[in-house]
Amino acid sequence: MTNQSLHYGIVGGGMVGLGLARRLAKLGHQVTILEAGDSIGGLAGAWQLGDVTWDKHYHVILMSDFLVRDLVAEIGLEQDFRWVETKTGFYTDGQMYSMSNSMEFLKFPPLGLLDKIRLAMTITVASKIRDWRYLERVPVATWLKRWSGGRTLEKIWIPLLKAKLGDAYRESMATFIWATIARMYAARRSGLKKEMFGYVHGGYHRILAALKSSLEKSGVRVITGAKVAGIRSDATGVRCEISGTEHRFDRMILTTNPHVTNRLLPELPAEDRHRLTDLRYQGIVCVSVLLRKPLDRFYVTNITDSWVPFTAVIEMSALVNREEFNGHSLVYLPKYVAPDDPLFDESDASIRNRFLAALSRMYPHFSEADVIELQVSRVREVFAISSRDYSKRVMPFKSSLPNIWLANSSQIVNGTLNVNESLALADRAVKAIHPEATFPPSKR
Ligand SMILES: Cc1cc2nc3c(=O)[nH]c(=O)nc-3n(C[C@H](O)[C@H](O)[C@H](O)COP(=O)(O)OP(=O)(O)OC[C@H]3O[C@@H](n4cnc5c(N)ncnc54)[C@H](O)[C@@H]3O)c2cc1C
Repeated sequence: MTNQSLHYGIVGGGMVGLGLARRLAKLGHQVTILEAGDSIGGLAGAWQLGDVTWDKHYHVILMSDFLVRDLVAEIGLEQDFRWVETKTGFYTDGQMYSMSNSMEFLKFPPLGLLDKIRLAMTITVASKIRDWRYLERVPVATWLKRWSGGRTLEKIWIPLLKAKLGDAYRESMATFIWATIARMYAARRSGLKKEMFGYVHGGYHRILAALKSSLEKSGVRVITGAKVAGIRSDATGVRCEISGTEHRFDRMILTTNPHVTNRLLPELPAEDRHRLTDLRYQGIVCVSVLLRKPLDRFYVTNITDSWVPFTAVIEMSALVNREEFNGHSLVYLPKYVAPDDPLFDESDASIRNRFLAALSRMYPHFSEADVIELQVSRVREVFAISSRDYSKRVMPFKSSLPNIWLANSSQIVNGTLNVNESLALADRAVKAIHPEATFPPSKR
C-alpha cells in the first residue's frame, strides 16, 4: 500500500493494461481500464470461429514464462495447465522435413555438415551472450553471416528473417535474433531441465475471464467499448475524452502502440513526438482455419520457399487437445507485413483463395472440403523493429506531460513480444511510477 491512493486511468485492456491494473490495485489505488474493443485482451483476445472460441492469434505459454504462470495461479487456473512436447517442421525446396531433434537436424538435406555445425554454433554463441547492447549496432544479417556463413545465411536465415520482418530485416540489428534465441533457451537458463509448451484449458478466453473477475473483485473498473479520443493533462490531473464525454483521473497510463499514443496526446512536446513516431512497426495478417482433419504433426512449420503467401503454418491442434476444438483441427496462417502493405486492403475472399491454394500445394492430402470456417485478422502495428541503437531511442515510462505515463510494446528493448514480456513491462512501469512497490517473488 502506498501513502496516497490515486485514481489511475489505463488506456488499453490488453495484457499490459491488465498487468498494470493488477499491480496498482494491490498497491491500494483506484483503477479504471478503458478498452476500445468489445472485450479485453487485445492481441491475446479470443474470437468465435465456427463452434469454437479460441485465441484470435496463436498463443503458447512456455514453461519458463514464470510471470504468466504466477498470474494463472493467482486467478485460480493453475490446475488447468496442459504441458506438451511439440514437434517442429521445416518446409523448404517444396519438401516437408521434421526438425524436432538433433538427429533430424543432422539429416536435414538442404545444408551440408559444415553448414550445420556452424548453424548450431551460431545458436550456442547467441544463447551465451549476456551483454546484448553491442548487438544493437550490428545488422542482423552481418552477424548471422559471420557465424553461420554465406550459404546458410541465404538458404535459411534470410528467408526466416524476411518471414518475420519483411524487407525491414535490413534495418534490424542482431538484438532481434539474440532475443529470439534467448527465449528458446530461457528454460535452461532458469534451471528447468527442458522447455515445454503449454496452454490453459479453454485458452486465453478463459484466462481473461478469470483475470477480469479477479480485477473487479479488487475494485478495478473495466470499461469496454471506451475508445479514448484525446488526453490533456496539467499538474492537478488528467482529462480524457471518450465519445464526447470528459473523464477525469489523477494519472493516466497509455498502453497503446506509439503511433496511437502520439495521436491521443496533442500537447506532447516535439521531442517526445519524434521518439514515438521514429520507430518502425511490423504488422500481421493472420488467418485462422478450422479444419475437419489435421494437416500434419508439427506445432510450427517454418517456411523458406518464397512462393508461399504466409510466413509459417501454426497447427494449434498439434499442441492443444482437439477436444478443445470439438474434435476439429485449428491452424493459423500468419503473414507478417509492414503497416502499409497492400495485403491489408485485400479482401477476405481473395486471401482465402490464395492461402488455401498454397496449403493444397504444400499438403497433397488437404482438400478445401476440409475447411469448416476461415477468418482473417488484420493488425497494422504488432511489434517494433529492433533498429540501430533501439534501446536509446525509445520513450521512457514517464512522458514530458504532467501525470501521463506510457507502457507499450515498443519499450520491450531486449526481448521478443510475448505475454511474459508484457507482464514484465507492466511490472517495470509500476516500479518506475512507485519505486517503493514490491511484488511477491515468483513461487516457481
Ligand atoms: C500473431 C501473434 C502471435 C503471438 N503469439 C504469442 C505466443 O505464442 N505467446 C505469447 O506469450 N505471446 C504471443 N503474442 C504476443 C502477445 O499477444 C502480446 O505480448 C500481448 O498481447 C501484448 O499486449 P499489449 O497490452 O502490449 O498490447 P495490445 O494487446 O495491443 O493491447 C492494447 C489495447 O489497447 C486498445 N486500444 C487501442 N486504442 C485505444 C483507444 N484509443 N482507447 C482505448 N483502448 C485502445 C486495443 O484495443 C488493445 O486492446 C502474439 C501476438 C501476435 C500478434
